[in-house]
Amino acid sequence: MLDVKAAREIVLQHCLRVDPESLPTEPVAIEECFKRIIAEAVVLDTDQPPFDRSMRDGYGVRAQDVKKVPALLKSVGEIKAGDFSSLDIKQGETVQIMTGAPVPGGVDAVVMVEHTERIDVEQVQVLRSAKAGDNIAWRGSEHKAGELVIGAGRTISAVELAVLASVGKSRVKVFRRPAVGILATGDELVEVDEIPQPGQIRNSNSFSLYAQVLKCGGLPVMLETSQDNASDLARQVKAGLENDVLLVSGGVSMGKYDLVEPVFKELGIDIHFESVSMRPGKPTVFATFANRFVYGLPGNPVSTFVAFELFVKPVLNRLQGLQAAALCLIRGVIQDEINEKSGRTAFLPAKVSSRSGKTKISPVCWKGSADIFSAVGANGFLVVALETTHLKSGDEAEALMFEELEFESESQF
Ligand code: AMP
Ligand code: MG
Repeated sequence: MLDVKAAREIVLQHCLRVDPESLPTEPVAIEECFKRIIAEAVVLDTDQPPFDRSMRDGYGVRAQDVKKVPALLKSVGEIKAGDFSSLDIKQGETVQIMTGAPVPGGVDAVVMVEHTERIDVEQVQVLRSAKAGDNIAWRGSEHKAGELVIGAGRTISAVELAVLASVGKSRVKVFRRPAVGILATGDELVEVDEIPQPGQIRNSNSFSLYAQVLKCGGLPVMLETSQDNASDLARQVKAGLENDVLLVSGGVSMGKYDLVEPVFKELGIDIHFESVSMRPGKPTVFATFANRFVYGLPGNPVSTFVAFELFVKPVLNRLQGLQAAALCLIRGVIQDEINEKSGRTAFLPAKVSSRSGKTKISPVCWKGSADIFSAVGANGFLVVALETTHLKSGDEAEALMFEELEFESESQF
């Protein structure tokens, strides 16, 4: 059976067939592009700063006039942020200037207001000497017009938004969000607002997948649950193939009514693997249909969840122009004893926290692949490698993160 690494390698190879140049893009208003992936290179439209700018509230001076202090100077005006002054300061003169205001001619240093004393309307006493350039950011001293500030393929977060606004990009070209069909299968499934009759359970996978898809930037498309018969399933899978990615959950085990693989085959969907040596998530199916990515995810809720993190995420990243991201793995110290007899790579729900730079991995008490309930509060999976059967408390191991690392409170400053 394929191990997780080899299975991911297959998925990543198929990701590489997606040419970022050919991905659809769309223009989006700046307010709407948070967390989208930018599809254009952004360059500075002006030097930064765009004019010689005062970095302090104070007085603009000629440094040579304040070599010896105290120095009595004649105040010839005031410049606030937003002003543009054609003043030209002569020997013995000064001008009151605010943070962010353009520095006028003649001024080559700004003395902070705290180091001056206003004598009267006309006169200012400067109490500290200054060197040329003090408290002035010269035009272009930080960046030059035409410089690349954001490359295509970057996620737009708060900093990128500020940069986009600074260069006047009110509309931004971003990669289109891939549409992801979510298809639950199983005669036992009822909807969330129904009361399950004996033998029935509520469909929960569609909702975890929905959230996982959203979190990866995809557009979830909820499909009607399919019954466990080949014709219903084939009809629903066909409908689901309208999307860039189709996630089918359930129906991939060895049971008589696990019909996903036969239906995939019947529809000409190319299956690349149909099981992975992992626990949970062994019967994961990865397939493609032309340029569509198709998955048969194991029905048990935790299995579906893990399989998504390992095998679907890289595809959604790639379809949005991101590099297929490396796994979010973190090393830490296990807080419990683990015995793993499955002979497969195990992914055990765990709470992963950091305190004083040390990472702790605390596996939750978990009853197996159907037990999504115990995973509430977990933010990662302790990864028990293939060859490992026993881990003791205090051993180092890796966790695969699916939520942010938890930071235990401590005073740092
Ligand atoms: P299957 O692979 O279809 O045999 O499903 C394995 C287990 O997962 C069975 O106990 C199913 O009832 C359960 N299961 C399948 N689909 C879902 C779903 N959408 N939500 C919750 N549990 C499911
Ligand atoms: Mg089933």
